[in-house]
Amino acid sequence: MKLDILAFGAHPDDVELSTSGTILKHIAQGKIVGIVDLTQGEMGSRGTIETRYEEAKNAAKILGVTYRHNLKMEDGFLSNTKENLLKIVEQIRLLKPEIVLANAIEDRHPDHEKGSKLVSEACFLAGLVKVETTYNGIKQEVYRPKTVYHYIQDRYIKPDFVIDVTDFYEQKMQAILAYKTQFFNPGQDGPKTPISGQDFLDFLTGRMSEMGRAIGARYAEGFTVERTLGVENLFTLK
Ligand SMILES: [Zn+2]
Repeated sequence: MKLDILAFGAHPDDVELSTSGTILKHIAQGKIVGIVDLTQGEMGSRGTIETRYEEAKNAAKILGVTYRHNLKMEDGFLSNTKENLLKIVEQIRLLKPEIVLANAIEDRHPDHEKGSKLVSEACFLAGLVKVETTYNGIKQEVYRPKTVYHYIQDRYIKPDFVIDVTDFYEQKMQAILAYKTQFFNPGQDGPKTPISGQDFLDFLTGRMSEMGRAIGARYAEGFTVERTLGVENLFTLK
C-alpha cells in the first residue's frame, strides 16, 4: 500500500477535530489517505478503550480513509523514546506517504506537542539508511516523506497557510460526532469535560470560520510548517 497522505494524532479524534476537512477534500480529489493514532486515548475522562476504537472505526468510515492503525503508546505520558520513534518510522516506511500531517507544535494537551515532535523526528529518521527496521520479518526500505504539516487544534496558533474546507464542513462534523462518548451527545453518561458541550462544537466552527476569513472562505483549516515552502508559480496561491 502506498498512501498520498498519512495523518498522525496523539489521540483518536485529534485528526478528526483538526484536519478532517482537509482529508475529506483530498480524498474527493482521488488521494489515498490513512490515519495512525499514537495512543488509545485511554486517559480520556469519558468512554473506554473499546468505545474509542469503535468510534475511531466509524469516523474512519465517514472520512473514507483507506487505513487506520493504533500504535498503543501511553496516553498522557507520551514520551520521546527510541521505541516510540521506531514504531512511527515503521509506519512511514510501510505506507510511504508523500505528505504527513501531525499534531499542533504546541497545545493545551501536552501529548499533542510531544506527538508533534515524535512524528517530525520519525519522518527524518525514516530517511536514514542506518536506522534499520523490519516489518513482518522483512527489512524495510528507507523512505522520507516530502513534508510534515502541523495542524492547529485547541490553542490558537497563527497558521502558515490555510485550506478551504467549506464544502466538507457537514461531513467533518459527522466524523467528529462519531466520537459519541467524547463530544456533545445529549443523554450521554459521564463527567462534563472541556470538550463535551455544545460550546465546544461552536468553538470548532468559530475556529474554522476564523481560518477561512483570510482567504474569503466560509470555513478553513490552518497549518504550520517547520521549513520554508516553495510554490510552483505565483498564481497557485489564493
Ligand atoms: Zn488529543
